[in-house]
Amino acid sequence: MVIETHSSIIAEPFFFEAAVWERKHLDGQIAYGAIPGTWFRPQDTVILATGILALISCPNCKGVSGLNRKIHKVDRFGKLEPNFICPFSINKIRCSFNRNAFLDRWNKKPLYAIALEYPTLSGGWRAQIEYCHAVNEAEVKKHLGPGSYRIVAIGPVVGYHVEDKEGKVLSV
Ligand SMILES: [Zn+2]
Repeated sequence: MVIETHSSIIAEPFFFEAAVWERKHLDGQIAYGAIPGTWFRPQDTVILATGILALISCPNCKGVSGLNRKIHKVDRFGKLEPNFICPFSINKIRCSFNRNAFLDRWNKKPLYAIALEYPTLSGGWRAQIEYCHAVNEAEVKKHLGPGSYRIVAIGPVVGYHVEDKEGKVLSV
């Protein structure tokens, strides 16, 4: 299995969509028109020189944070480490947005959710959801490789809903 498991997920992860933020000049400073709930990779060398990996806009308070390579890491599946904790406050109340996060299209490919079931010792099945970047379902299956599991559903994460056979929504 090439794919990673994310057993530490407590709540539903949040999926930041990739977006192109409009570049602006404000008083000679570079600024971007952030889109809440999305991430953006700036191309300006002056910004990249500060160690910024990407800019991310909080879906709750719209505050923009920089992901710094000294602190943050994004794995090849787009998973952000550590989890996203919004540093902003609204009217002196701390924004409470704190979630495990994935950055869609981090390696240019869309993020897929895969609902899998693994056999248990008692003869039942244990459900687990995995995530990976791939161009299509065939590539998802290639990443999964051989293993003792069965695939319940595969679908792109952002902008789509994946439902299992019981009609349960697996992704947002
Ligand atoms: Zn926030």
